[in-house]
Amino acid sequence: MPGFEIIGKEEKRAVNKVFSEGGVLFAHGFEALRKNFHIRQFEKIFCKRFNCRHSLAVSSGTASIKIALKAMGVKPGDEVITQAFNFIATVEAIVDVGAIPIIANVDDSLNMSVEDTEKLITSKTKVILPVHMLGVPAEMNSLMQLAKNKKIKVLEDNCESVGAKYNGKFLGTIGHAGALSFDFGKVITTGEGGMIITNDYKIDKYCREYHDHGHENNPKLPRGKDTRKIYGFNYRMTELQGAIGKVQLNKLNFIIKENKKRYNALLKGLNNKFLLRKIPKGSNIIYDTLILIVKNKNLRNKIVNHLKSKGFGTKNLPDAIEWHCSAYWNHILSKKQVSRSKKTKEKLETAIAIPVWLKKSLNDYLQLGKSLKNI
Ligand SMILES: *Cc1c(COP(=O)(O)O)cnc(C)c1O
Repeated sequence: MPGFEIIGKEEKRAVNKVFSEGGVLFAHGFEALRKNFHIRQFEKIFCKRFNCRHSLAVSSGTASIKIALKAMGVKPGDEVITQAFNFIATVEAIVDVGAIPIIANVDDSLNMSVEDTEKLITSKTKVILPVHMLGVPAEMNSLMQLAKNKKIKVLEDNCESVGAKYNGKFLGTIGHAGALSFDFGKVITTGEGGMIITNDYKIDKYCREYHDHGHENNPKLPRGKDTRKIYGFNYRMTELQGAIGKVQLNKLNFIIKENKKRYNALLKGLNNKFLLRKIPKGSNIIYDTLILIVKNKNLRNKIVNHLKSKGFGTKNLPDAIEWHCSAYWNHILSKKQVSRSKKTKEKLETAIAIPVWLKKSLNDYLQLGKSLKNI
């Protein structure tokens, strides 16, 4: 379930508080007019919650990917390997820093294939960018080992699986940095927004400066006299989003717990009738989506129509496959990358992603599972 299902009273109170404190909506300065720095507090509790050294709130998940790539030193002509089941944002971020996107196929977990990624590494590869799709971790152990051997950095796109873990570590904190999204459809939301998390001081420092016009935010100087070493851009979040983010983060445990109950009720109803997406060993998933693998096209259509008629719908597969599979992206990728994505397209065409909604009850999911079993 996404955070927008339980947004309301608490978030409204937090927004009102920002106005009653003086209405400063900007992250920096205006000390005389404000009582709090909500974005900085959001970042602080984020570090505690996810056990990482640095968190930087930015304007979107897409921005978080782009800024982190720049911080990792990706330059025009470098290659960045990402995956064919994805959201278009990673490819846009890679292209926007002047680098060349290289597309790895996915395995039965529907996340980055380690085997395929290894084949794609060249002397130009600067970063591997695995994407933890729809609540489930990529095989991070093998990917980290691969990157270490080749001295390549790893940026985790964890826009879709905030709160999930792999071998006891939160996704986004295993690679050199993690990029998270709080857009309106994500696990927790601030409307638009993102976070870059890392344990690397240098990466954090670059991101912090770059997202704020190069400002070093020197505490000894007023902002107007602040120092700079690099040029940047404006990818800042607003205080309203920071205030909402703190509230939504508090709801994350509840969201995952409630997801799990519904997910398990659905599994119980299905009673092993269908093949499922593979979940890597050592994963703690967030149970927001259950993916069935159904190779028979007629049966697949029947299931998708059933999900639609019962008000559950599907989550990207198949309804938005065009935005989530690089085989469709000939407007931004080379012919070669589009063509090698076809293998993933074939796999994704057998997948049906069932969303887990809070507004539906455990019994709704149990009954859905039973009706699908008998379809
Ligand atoms: C949502 C998403 C993004 C982009 O996040 P925005 O906040 O919408 O810019 C990037 N990657 C993946 C996998 C996503 O699902």
